[in-house]
Amino acid sequence: MKKRISLLVCAFTSISAFAQHVGDPKLTEVWDPVPAIVKPGNAPSDAPSDAIILFNGKDLSAWTGEKGAAAGWDVENGIVTVKKGAGLITTKQSFGDCQLHIEWRTPSEVKGDGQGRGNSGIFLMGKYELQVLDSYNNSTYSNGQAASIYKQLIPLANASKGPGEWQTYDVIFIAPRFDSKGRVQSQARITVIHNGVLVQNNATIWGGTEYIGIAEYKPHGAKEPISLQDHGNPVSYRNIWIREL
Ligand code: MG
Repeated sequence: MKKRISLLVCAFTSISAFAQHVGDPKLTEVWDPVPAIVKPGNAPSDAPSDAIILFNGKDLSAWTGEKGAAAGWDVENGIVTVKKGAGLITTKQSFGDCQLHIEWRTPSEVKGDGQGRGNSGIFLMGKYELQVLDSYNNSTYSNGQAASIYKQLIPLANASKGPGEWQTYDVIFIAPRFDSKGRVQSQARITVIHNGVLVQNNATIWGGTEYIGIAEYKPHGAKEPISLQDHGNPVSYRNIWIREL
């Protein structure tokens, strides 16, 4: 009996091995769609050919300030810097699923500590804050340090460079989906690479960023503008581009 089973197994194995070599391999080839050709920038941080440039180093024409005012941050030498009290700045265009590249720098002159040191932030869809902070030898709560999703997701590593050094975030963001009654169909997800280091790996965002209390989702559009935070510290940004997914 035992022999018969092993013979059967043997026969089955041979048949399935044989089956891999019969039939038409073309049946599993997919030729359409053809991915669009995108010419990469010369350096990985250069905008590729299909990117939307959000800050070109010259002006804030892609941005507005609060309550319909012009974006009031300082632009100089290809860099835009938070102007204390000017309020957050917001993209004129709205975005849903996207790939975002953004470079930032906290002040070289270290002032304050914890959350008061080089604090700004990138509010995806105006609601989900990817924290910008000087987290180089600067203790604060882990879910509030640089590359955290503020008060939610602790980064996988602290890849921070020092004060005054340029840093990069490369972000892949998948917007949340809501049904017609405003119920969450799928939560937002985020991948963040900080200075070349994976710090958020397709992580699920719990809801809109809250300073106090638990995050929760409130229904919103499929596309919403991105905001940069004025937290009163002169944090600078440059080379901001985005690709819609
Ligand atoms: Mg912040």
